[in-house]
Amino acid sequence: MITLALSKGRIFDETLPLLRAAGIEVLDDPDKTRKLILATNQPEVRVVLVRATDVPTYVQYGGADLGITGKDTLLEHTAEWGGNAGLVQPLDLQIAKCRISVAVREGFDYAAAMRQGSRMTVATKYVGIAREFFASKGVHVDLIKLYGSMELAPLTGLADAIVDLVSTGNTLKANHLVEVEHIMDISSRLVVNQAALKLKTAPIRQIIDAFAAAVATQH
Ligand code: AMP
Repeated sequence: MITLALSKGRIFDETLPLLRAAGIEVLDDPDKTRKLILATNQPEVRVVLVRATDVPTYVQYGGADLGITGKDTLLEHTAEWGGNAGLVQPLDLQIAKCRISVAVREGFDYAAAMRQGSRMTVATKYVGIAREFFASKGVHVDLIKLYGSMELAPLTGLADAIVDLVSTGNTLKANHLVEVEHIMDISSRLVVNQAALKLKTAPIRQIIDAFAAAVATQH
């Protein structure tokens, strides 16, 4: 049995066409079922639904053989666990593309704050990425970990800046925030458990190769 860990929403939706191209059809709609293990048209392949931030953990510890997760989630997982031993990253699937950026309230002089080295407070779900980014600039910041609605932090005075994912920029605009730094581009990656790859090489390789071919034809 091959187990693929996915999270509901954007990643699941954008993975379906890649699965289809690999000849794998998920038999349940995750929005209509409460099942967490979904069968596919291939009796030896199943999908498990986990929280986005849990995908690297499932794959690293072998709860799933493969998983699809954002580069953002993967970097945070690595920062938190001091490495990603046992996780092989064979493929950039080029789905769920966005960027991770620093944003501030309209009118906040970010450039001056950075220049003067004034100790900014930065709210984010991405503490590892933010810590590394500001350290690389030689700027000390106080980080506040949030789990959602980051946009609210500069508006309520909780923080001077946020580090968050940006796609169209509409969410920032709607909340009178402006993007002041583009930290990195993000897309979803296929991750594979290293031991599973050794033990079940042929079926896992087949999925990796089918995904690679699907990505190549879609871009
Ligand atoms: P947008 O308004 O299009 O810039 O989207 C920004 C909002 O969507 C933010 O709340 C982000 O956290 C979220 N978001 C954007 N792109 C992604 C993505 N690829 N994966 C997960 N969340 C995203």
